[in-house]
Amino acid sequence: MNVILLGAPGAGKGTQATRLAEKYGIPHISTGDIFRENIKKQTPIGVVAKSYIDKGQLVPDEVTVEIVKQRLAMDDCKNGYLLDGFPRNTFQAEELDKFSTVEKVVDIDVDLTKLLKRITGRRVCVCGESFHVDFLNGKTTCDKCGSELYQRADDNEETVKNRLSVYQNQTAPLIEYYQKAGKLVLINGDQSIDKVFEDITKTLG
Ligand code: ADP
Ligand code: ADP
Ligand code: ZN
Repeated sequence: MNVILLGAPGAGKGTQATRLAEKYGIPHISTGDIFRENIKKQTPIGVVAKSYIDKGQLVPDEVTVEIVKQRLAMDDCKNGYLLDGFPRNTFQAEELDKFSTVEKVVDIDVDLTKLLKRITGRRVCVCGESFHVDFLNGKTTCDKCGSELYQRADDNEETVKNRLSVYQNQTAPLIEYYQKAGKLVLINGDQSIDKVFEDITKTLG
């Protein structure tokens, strides 16, 4: 089961991917997470990626495609994978088609006007979970592992606005790309986390 989770920043890709990976026993591969790990370890890739991520721009394709190509070649992807945040433009999608066969593309659809609030209110944990301040009731630690939550450096209003326009200009055209390929499944992302999960699992089987 090779699946892509498509959707704007804040649509709920990471939230759903964590749950889907657990249910189906396949790896959740987030290019954003891979970049953030590299930034933390100050690797050469991390140094390059940071300058783009801080501005809300896409990290260059040659870096990003190579990372995904190597990751999908690893053993744990043999029975499938969940790609979250890749591809993000047509070039990346075409490259992916050259080294892997995607079966389904789940587009989590949320109105653009609601995304700014979702992202600026996002609080994340080192374990990979994300939360929203509106549901935390003042709690500052993770439900799953107890660690202190924090806000991502790029989840500020200025950077988010850039990311949303990058999404509209570069990523949204992928909806048509995968529709034409007969792989697209449209999911209403403006429902509870549980309901979105139920809708996705229904289409994945
Ligand atoms: P993405 O990976 O697509 O950028 P996340 O999964 O990190 O998005 O979710 C962005 C924010 O929205 C987080 O604060 C998360 O808790 C919240 N969120 C995710 N799904 C929903 C939902 N169905 N309803 C309300 N808030 C949600
Ligand atoms: P979100 O879903 O909230 O936009 P991600 O964690 O997916 O956040 O991505 C964070 C940042 O990492 C992006 O704004 C971009 O700079 C970079 N990035 C992630 N995936 C890609 C990709 N496929 N191509 C280029 N840059 C990427
Ligand atoms: Zn945690």
